[in-house]
Amino acid sequence: MSAAPDRVPDAPPSAAPAWADLAGQEAAVGQLSRAAAADNPTHAWLFTGPPGSGRSNAARAFAQALQCEQADPADRGCGQCHACLTVKAGTHADVKVMATENVSYKIDEIRELISLAQDRPSSGRWRIFIIEDADRMTERATNVLLKAIEEPPARTVWMLCAPSPADVLVTIRSRCRPVGLRIPSVRSVAELLVTRDGLDPDLALFAARASQSHVGMARRLAADEGARQRRESVVHLPLRIQATSDAVALAKELVEVTQAEAKASAEVRNAEERAALLRALGLGEDEKVPAKLRHHVKRLEDSQTARNKRSVHDTLDRAMIDLTGLFRDVLALQLGTGAELVNEHLRDDLASYAHAAPAERTVARIDAVATARRRLAGNVPALLALEAMATSFLPDRILDRRPGDWA
Ligand SMILES: [Zn+2]
Repeated sequence: MSAAPDRVPDAPPSAAPAWADLAGQEAAVGQLSRAAAADNPTHAWLFTGPPGSGRSNAARAFAQALQCEQADPADRGCGQCHACLTVKAGTHADVKVMATENVSYKIDEIRELISLAQDRPSSGRWRIFIIEDADRMTERATNVLLKAIEEPPARTVWMLCAPSPADVLVTIRSRCRPVGLRIPSVRSVAELLVTRDGLDPDLALFAARASQSHVGMARRLAADEGARQRRESVVHLPLRIQATSDAVALAKELVEVTQAEAKASAEVRNAEERAALLRALGLGEDEKVPAKLRHHVKRLEDSQTARNKRSVHDTLDRAMIDLTGLFRDVLALQLGTGAELVNEHLRDDLASYAHAAPAERTVARIDAVATARRRLAGNVPALLALEAMATSFLPDRILDRRPGDWA
């Protein structure tokens, strides 16, 4: 092996472009860029962090830095070389990203990965497997994977992603080096949107706050007026509800709004990925894809189809997070905590809403949203779960008069 360069262990995080999207994650970037520069990375990693903190982006950036063709380790993740471009576009032959559109991974999917792991890298320096949502593996699938991690083939690197270390079995966890991502601050997310995406600073700040520091969502909110309008209609729903019949209508509207949002969001992202892939393949936007490159496009399309299916569920979940944020704001106003609101732009409306009900009721509404979220994750039909939730949003005068009607 070539001599590892002299790098002090606490060298500053790399400024290579691969890491640029990881807002507010200096510690993780420092850890990963040093590992990539050291040329002999641990063969199994566990990326954890709340949704939107960028755990799978961090894994992809790390994969990019590991495969990057730059000679100087400090430049790894240059964002320019063929390896960087293809990892980013999702077409690098030695970087396989597993995401499941199902509730859990099938054991055969994991087996297939493991047999791939036996091959030597085809062009890259490492054979890298990124498993998004490693928490969605069944115990049986996990045990199959465990064997592979215990006896790693040479030059293989596994990267697992999960919300928290507790979400994967301890046997796996204990064999992985942990990478913890934090919820980035509102400021650092807003800054990223301004510097990277050139978005308006005020809009970026609003979006960072409203998305509760979810980077991808913030970018979408700041860049797309339609997404902002759809979010506004979600957070206004509880404020509008006056009668039991409204609860049914609200549930229906919530499903419709989130379906529209999922569709719009997928279209933008799919188009961007396609454009990035064509660029990586050296093709113009409208150029015909030559037959020998067509399998790259096909692979991207397959993964997009799988993701679209999941995106409706994820968008609805996002709406639940928006509603939780709304009621947390109400609670903050009721308790007079003086905290900055997620929905700062609705402060006046929320203040009068807060004034009209006791804090206990707000807590019950937060619970009702959490219950609906659990039911949706458990595949209860969306309308049913949401109707039950929406009845808890009814005004106090109705809830007080008719207790128990909507248990
Ligand atoms: Zn590179």
